[in-house]
Order: sequence, then structure tokens, then C-alpha cells
Amino acid sequence: LSTSRLDRFISKQCRVSRRDVRLMLAQKRIRVDGAIATNIDQIVDKFSHIMLDNKVLQANQASYVMLHKPVGVVSATKDEQHKTVLDIVNLPESVDKASLHLVGRLDLNTSGLVLLTNDSRWSERLTSPDSKVEKLYRVTLQNKLNEDYIEAFNQGMYFGYEKITTKPAKLAIISDHVAMVSLVEGRYHQIKRMFGRFRNPVVALHRVAIGSLTLTEQLKVGESRLLTPQEVAGI
Ligand code: URA
Repeated sequence: LSTSRLDRFISKQCRVSRRDVRLMLAQKRIRVDGAIATNIDQIVDKFSHIMLDNKVLQANQASYVMLHKPVGVVSATKDEQHKTVLDIVNLPESVDKASLHLVGRLDLNTSGLVLLTNDSRWSERLTSPDSKVEKLYRVTLQNKLNEDYIEAFNQGMYFGYEKITTKPAKLAIISDHVAMVSLVEGRYHQIKRMFGRFRNPVVALHRVAIGSLTLTEQLKVGESRLLTPQEVAGI
């Protein structure tokens, strides 16, 4: 997320000198996030609400969305063949849908929690391989599970294509054919490839949670809603 000094921002936007900006500031004509600005070197970013006199110079709203993605919807913003997550999100008019990007993708045949935002700093934090944010999946397998899986997932697996070893993943056996798996990264088809090592095909995959954000009964498949500021900060 790019930032700028307030005087630079105003001088560029209004094509005036930085000396002029200093004067405007002294005349109390500039407001940032509703308050009269007093520092020319105040740092602003694309979500700062900036006004000169009664004119809005910038008003971008940061938006954070959770979606219960159905199977058959593609995790992209544009697609020729399938509906995209952007096609199905249902948001207030005030949200600029076109500004949203995905915070990590799910496969076409995977369902569950998908996040969208226009705040790249937030999404980078959630998707960075070093982030400790856990993604929790419910996995249904074709063949029976056994205790060996737990150790193998925890050890990590070498992925030759990427030349990486997966970070320790937690696996809990729920029943013969159902496991909960928690990952801190998101490699391409990671869960399917990890079970592939046991020649055990994934028949259904559902993302239940990302960090502290969990899909609950309230958000039915295909539905979406804005996150609260507490949810955004607490993830
Ligand atoms: N792992 C997969 O294989 N697919 C997903 O959609 C998510 C994790």
C-alpha cells in the first residue's frame, strides 16, 4: 500500500506548490479523516479521506468481505467459462466491487471461506508464507485414514516442482473418511497433493476458517457479508 506525505499528495492533486499547501494548512483548509490537518509531513495512504475546503480529494473505502464459496465458482475476478467469486458477492452499493482482489484462492471444486479486499497490506499479511495464520479445511477422502497421516502431515512433504518442503500441518482424524487439516501456507492444490502421497483421493474439500474467522451457519453457501472492524483487526 503506497503512502505519501500530505503536502506531496495535495500538491500533486491540486497542481499547486508545496509552499501553497503550507499556506492552505495554516488557513485550516485541509481535512484528513475528518480532522483539520496541522502537519505537512503527515503520512496519508489510499484509504485516507482527504478534503480541501468542501471538496473531497480522495475517498477510498477499505473493504473486507467474507464469502461462502460454492463448488463450481472460480476463484478469480474474470472467467470465460464459470461464474467467479466476484460475480456472486452481494454487497452494499457503497462498496466498489471492481476494486476487490482475492486473499488466497480455492479450487473450482472446493467450497468454503474466501476473503476479498482492496487493502493489499492486509491481504499480503494473510497470504505471506511467513504468516502464521492458519487455514482450516475439512477433507473427505475416498479411502480410510490412519494414524500414519498425522505424522506425515506434521513432518512436511517435499514438493519437487516448487523445491520446497511443506510447513508442519496439523491433521486430526474425525472419522474413517473425514479429517480436519490446518495449514499455514497455501501451495497449489496443497491438500490434494498431500493426500495424493497416500494415493487417497480427496472427494470433498471445504475451508472452514482462516485465522480467527470461521464460517458459521449464518452465512449459507453462496452468501457474503462485510467483515466488522473487530474481525479485520483480530484475524
Ligand atoms: N488445497 C487444495 O488442494 N485445494 C484447495 O482449494 C485448497 C487447498
